[in-house]
Amino acid sequence: MKIDRMEISGRKGVVVFSDVEPFMINAFRRSLIADVPKMAIDHIEIHLGAISDESGHTYESTTPLFDEIIAHRLSLTPVPTDCDALLKGHLKLKEECSCDGTGCANCQIMYSLNKRGPCTVYSGDLEPLGDEKLKPIDAKIPIVKLTEDEGILIYATAHLGNGKTHARWQAVHAVGYKPIPEITVNQEKVKDADRIAANCPRDVFTVNKKTLIVSDPESCILCRTCENEDIGGIGAVKVNADTTTFLFKFETDGSVDPATAVKYALDYLIAKFGDFETLLSESK
Ligand SMILES: [Zn+2]
Repeated sequence: MKIDRMEISGRKGVVVFSDVEPFMINAFRRSLIADVPKMAIDHIEIHLGAISDESGHTYESTTPLFDEIIAHRLSLTPVPTDCDALLKGHLKLKEECSCDGTGCANCQIMYSLNKRGPCTVYSGDLEPLGDEKLKPIDAKIPIVKLTEDEGILIYATAHLGNGKTHARWQAVHAVGYKPIPEITVNQEKVKDADRIAANCPRDVFTVNKKTLIVSDPESCILCRTCENEDIGGIGAVKVNADTTTFLFKFETDGSVDPATAVKYALDYLIAKFGDFETLLSESK
């Protein structure tokens, strides 16, 4: 398996793999979704009873939403994960941490949420205990609307986890891949270049002085409309899928950067296959 090209743009990643078999690329897809860890809120404490502000005004600790819904929204709010520490193995699952699950900087982030109505409570209102860089990545995710004299006081804790445990720990989304198409044009057999270009749903072709040019092969979805004899002429265009070279696209929720996700998933697979090889050799 080789990486020919990797493009990272914000939360999106594009990787071109060559010298790879379909099962390997699918294992990588599954690892990105299920194995790449991230921090996510999985424990909250909601203050009950009256909440007083500095002037002595009291607010009811009640909201129009059930506590479970607020907990669910907080758990799906992306919070930053220290990618450097993650790749170095410094971030730990709570049950594997040296603190024995009591909570430390290697396995948890603590937040407070203290708002009084009338207002809309957003993800950006979560305040980390400690480094301000740990504030949620998207500040404008609505959590709940408070009316007059309503208040909310929550202490939330984020832990490390991965997607196979729960969707709140799934850092990578919208994962897709396809074999890189090989498109060849036999210009002598092209009857109507403009017609072939116009019928392509992904604008793969352009026409220059009646010559059909493959200008964007990576956009091809292998629909083979261009191979249709009524559109292109017999044998004018041939589309093949190269099943050893794949175009792979994905995005993250922002908690982990795409390059870290790729590196972690590949390292994870290498380690897992290494373990498997060891087990096989030991069982002989
Ligand atoms: Zn710990």
